[in-house]
Amino acid sequence: MALIVMVCCGSLNAEEGVTDATEPKVVILLGAPGSGKGTAATRLTKDVSLPHLSTGDLLRENVKKGTPLGIRAKEYMDKGLLVPDDLVIAMLCDRVTQPDCAKGYLLDGFPRTIAQAAAFQESLNGVKPLVIDLKVSDQVVVDRISGRMVCEKCGHIFHKTFSPPKVEGMCDVCQSALKQRKDDSADVVSECLRVYHAQTKPVEEFYAEQGLLHEVDAERGAEHVYQTVMSLVNA
Ligand code: AMP
Repeated sequence: MALIVMVCCGSLNAEEGVTDATEPKVVILLGAPGSGKGTAATRLTKDVSLPHLSTGDLLRENVKKGTPLGIRAKEYMDKGLLVPDDLVIAMLCDRVTQPDCAKGYLLDGFPRTIAQAAAFQESLNGVKPLVIDLKVSDQVVVDRISGRMVCEKCGHIFHKTFSPPKVEGMCDVCQSALKQRKDDSADVVSECLRVYHAQTKPVEEFYAEQGLLHEVDAERGAEHVYQTVMSLVNA
């Protein structure tokens, strides 16, 4: 698996131990589903001019287009399970070799397993990622995700409690119907949390051991997360 990544993700380069002003900036946002990774990355991408790569979004695009990857991924996503490592790694590697990633990128939702983290690390050729962990309790995750409603047409996201639409069930932006994403249902959210604790939590330790992990209290809201992440990125 590491070999696939090294072959596919060869675009980033920094000699071991050498810091270079032009070294690509790789930012990894870790955290449970609903911790605010996507919200922070969506805002940050404009301010730091780095592309926002969400493996969840890339997979959903594939599902929508009905690609072979999308067809395979859907069966896992609908159950709240992780898509197999080889598929996700190959997909991400393909994306990071696009020209817009040459100066770096913001990763949201990847890596989610130790195998992904180890394979990705090798592909970085000595570039040290900035790893930021958004910390929230399980109860906050359940409250945030199970109230989420998405516009089928323009993709705008609302929340039943925190940011309700003016008219129930209707998008404020384009007046189309709102629906709950299949993977946002209460059952799927609790499965996602179980998988997160079993498979993704160890990734934090993987980066902590290398002194690369920065923690942010993501229960303090989106503005706090954004400001803290921004100051880490600019440090
Ligand atoms: P997200 O939008 O990041 O919550 O991702 C939605 C779903 O896509 C997850 O529940 C997984 O099924 C799948 N997924 C996203 N990123 C990964 C990843 N790095 N590894 C495996 N599966 C992933």
